[in-house]
Amino acid sequence: MAFENLTQRLSKALKNLTGKGKINEEDLQATLREIRLALLEADVSYPTVKKFIDQIRQKAKGTEILDGLNGAQQVIKVVNDELTALMGDEAVPLNKPDKIPTKIMMAGLQGAGKTTTIAKLAYKLKKEENARPLLIAADIYRPAAIDQLEILGKDLGVPVFSMGTDVDPREIVKAGLAEAAANKNDYVLIDTAGRLQIDAELMAELKDVQEIAQPDEVLLTVDAMTGQNATETAQGFADELNLTGVVLTKLDGDTRGGAALSIRDVTGKPIKFVGQGEKPTDLDVFYPDRMASRILG
Ligand code: GDP
Repeated sequence: MAFENLTQRLSKALKNLTGKGKINEEDLQATLREIRLALLEADVSYPTVKKFIDQIRQKAKGTEILDGLNGAQQVIKVVNDELTALMGDEAVPLNKPDKIPTKIMMAGLQGAGKTTTIAKLAYKLKKEENARPLLIAADIYRPAAIDQLEILGKDLGVPVFSMGTDVDPREIVKAGLAEAAANKNDYVLIDTAGRLQIDAELMAELKDVQEIAQPDEVLLTVDAMTGQNATETAQGFADELNLTGVVLTKLDGDTRGGAALSIRDVTGKPIKFVGQGEKPTDLDVFYPDRMASRILG
């Protein structure tokens, strides 16, 4: 991740304040204007920016910032706190039921990083919890998606359940779940079909899979590099599926940061993980406070 512009602009706006002992209303307004522009340029969604700035203004009024000592420090703290709150405050762990398996359904547009993320998640669960996940290959439309999952599974030593591309994904999921029950797998990760964009047929299929699998987690992968489109895509899926969280992929290539800052606010769904590279090890739990600190530089 390198939200260089955003970090630079925010720290410049805040540095202008730290030079002053006391700050007045005018200083505060000028800083808020700078922050607003920095966020818009970072591709943060407009309503989110508006809400964010209003919130800071409100907080600044409620404290002794103006004309008090260390006003600048207090503004920085408020900005930091509000950035953290915007992204959800706390890291949100995976939902786990009392009995196995924990069922995780992955959804997302084609190319968002769904299949790669499943492999990363399987690796993480295996390494951290000694888990025995089963991967179900139910993306029958994208050429080579099943092969890709099988190769990744083999590399990681994780079994992959597949029935080729001629069987209905609903049947694949049913049979895969039966296999997981027979093998007592503790996790089931379901790879579903993607499309270039959201369409009714895709959503109908995903809803059916959701109905059949009754997943504990419906995680949406979205490509951070697509900025506001990522946020809109997330909203589109959130309208149709019972999303429990978002995996923001390709954060390593995202130079602006708009998706990371907007998704939680716009969709109400927490970012649970971030993808920061192509390797199985490149998946991290999303910590809003750490991200806020990184953004503020
Ligand atoms: P799917 O169609 O959603 O299953 O997408 P894939 O899992 O096939 O990923 C599409 C491309 O994005 C592949 O080339 C992946 O290696 C790449 N990719 C996925 N996640 C990340 C990530 O976090 N960072 C980077 N740099 N590339 C990623």
